[in-house]
Amino acid sequence: MKNTPIYLDYASTTPTSPRAFKAMQKYFSKQYGNPSSLHYYGRQAQNALDQSRTEIARILNCSYKEIIFTASATESINTIINSAIQDPSSDPHIITTSIEHSAVLEACRTTKAKISFVQPDTKGLIEPNQIEGLLTKNTVLVSIGYANNEIGTIQPIKEIAKTLKNHKAILHTDATQAAGYCNIDTKELGVDAMTISSHKIYGPKGAGILFIKENCPLYPLIVGGKQESNRRAGTENIPAIVGLKEALKETEETKEEETKKQKMLRDLLIKQLLENKEITLNGSMENRLPNNVNISIENIKSDIALAYLDNQGICVSSGSACTSNTPQPSYVLKEIKNKNPENGIRITIGRNTKETDINKTSSTIKEMIRDFT
Ligand code: PLP
Repeated sequence: MKNTPIYLDYASTTPTSPRAFKAMQKYFSKQYGNPSSLHYYGRQAQNALDQSRTEIARILNCSYKEIIFTASATESINTIINSAIQDPSSDPHIITTSIEHSAVLEACRTTKAKISFVQPDTKGLIEPNQIEGLLTKNTVLVSIGYANNEIGTIQPIKEIAKTLKNHKAILHTDATQAAGYCNIDTKELGVDAMTISSHKIYGPKGAGILFIKENCPLYPLIVGGKQESNRRAGTENIPAIVGLKEALKETEETKEEETKKQKMLRDLLIKQLLENKEITLNGSMENRLPNNVNISIENIKSDIALAYLDNQGICVSSGSACTSNTPQPSYVLKEIKNKNPENGIRITIGRNTKETDINKTSSTIKEMIRDFT
């Protein structure tokens, strides 16, 4: 029998953890009420919703009133960007970076707002004063990804928040990739809005968080019923929300240990890969997610490499999952002035990764280089 393929694409999605899965189960077929119903079953669902919101607010160090449940980080991001430009008296201006996830870039592109893009340096980092220099009296939103989904670069969100202290613009951070590893205390970070996705932190697919400070106005993106205090219509997905809550709790409890373990595996893989002169590491080594390895291999395009590795039972990706079925040079690698943006491979480690997986991956990549050169 063939071995189970090695999964090294945790930035695309994570398996639902057994603990999150268990917590969700009874809400499918036993406590299946609609939280808007006033009867016994409705109250059960409402309790689960309230408890999940309270627990998540505790972790994010905010009020439960500041948590809105959505179906994905993409929806949370679209909501915040759409909301920021709704004031009819303004001529809205948004500042973001040119290496954001497509959820941010596309949501910005389809608004009528003026957009300024901050350019990262060759390591993928941005400087807080680059943002300061772009602020105008019309800036309504500054949206900066906490950690990049392709190259894993962690941005200085706390410092960015300090530079915006005296400006009315809302500071939003897309913490989708960072939530598993970085500090997500909203007060310590000083952010006004933050987005998180359940399926990137070992929760189920179909749930997202939008944190937005109580004093920031929020115009709903999805209208209809009065759910989520009139800020996101539609019957709440109770099993997914409970799973997300449990996954976030587990993530917080294991963050330190997982960060240490995954960093060790990441550094081992980087060391082994860089023994090949054809390989270069993309993005900052210092300010990098503990699970991210992004490399370019001279003369091997990423679609070829991905197919080869898949054939050898190694599942990695060429960048963001949302763009990888259209083989194109990575816009993130282009923005950091990488010489071979069509050669980028993203290898992302997770809770189930073992040292043997790392060894197998680096030896297979070595063989691939031998086969192609
Ligand atoms: N933001 C970042 C940084 C991501 O990596 C992703 C998913 O890849 C998203 C947003 C979108 O998340 P979701 O799949 O929950 O819509």
